[in-house]
Amino acid sequence: MISFTSDIDWAPDELIEDTLELFDKYRVKCTFFSTHYSEILKNCNKDLFEIAVHPNFNPLFSDNSKSIDRIIDELLEIHPDAKGVRSHSMLQSSQLIQKFSEKGFVYESNHFLPYHSKVKPYKLWTGMIRIPFNWEDDIHWSYGHGFDDHKMDLNDSGLNIFNFHPIHIFLNTENEQRYNDAKVFYKNPSKLRTFRNSKTEGSRDLLIRLLEHIKEHKLVTKTQFEIAKDFSSGATF
Ligand SMILES: [Zn+2]
Repeated sequence: MISFTSDIDWAPDELIEDTLELFDKYRVKCTFFSTHYSEILKNCNKDLFEIAVHPNFNPLFSDNSKSIDRIIDELLEIHPDAKGVRSHSMLQSSQLIQKFSEKGFVYESNHFLPYHSKVKPYKLWTGMIRIPFNWEDDIHWSYGHGFDDHKMDLNDSGLNIFNFHPIHIFLNTENEQRYNDAKVFYKNPSKLRTFRNSKTEGSRDLLIRLLEHIKEHKLVTKTQFEIAKDFSSGATF
């Protein structure tokens, strides 16, 4: 199964809207891991889109003025119905897993297995379900791979979970240089637009090819929460 997630990473609404419109156009489901309040995300089509949370624990390394609880609770106040969690920078620890369980999350998605095949959910010791993911836009260029090839076997029997960031969809990012040049204008979409990659295949092109593949083969897509529910009710992957 092909499934999509998006870590929104404080993107302005115009960028989130751009990502939502792409998935909406193809009627493909996506789970958004949210970092902040977003009007456009709040009002998104809940038949297609799930909102999970994307807490940033990185300040804990440099500044202890915020607790783990406060970081999670601030996001749960914005998204009280969130069932899933993925930390910004994929930060994971047994302490965080314990805390995520106490907060009532059904699943977590912090475990990244780039390009692995036969990826399956599994149950953690707290009863929470872990859904690993195996593709991410910025990691793809970090390996030096081009965006003309996602390097995944779409016919694999396990999960193929692709994670895209709205900024990289918007910029059609193909390498770190483009992102570094553009990111000083992160909150200025009209200025960001001038940094868009139109020369070579990038993140947006790759996503559109995947969406076309799903449309062509009439594939069913699911949110991460739906995958967690399927797993809980005994479905095999
Ligand atoms: Zn992030």
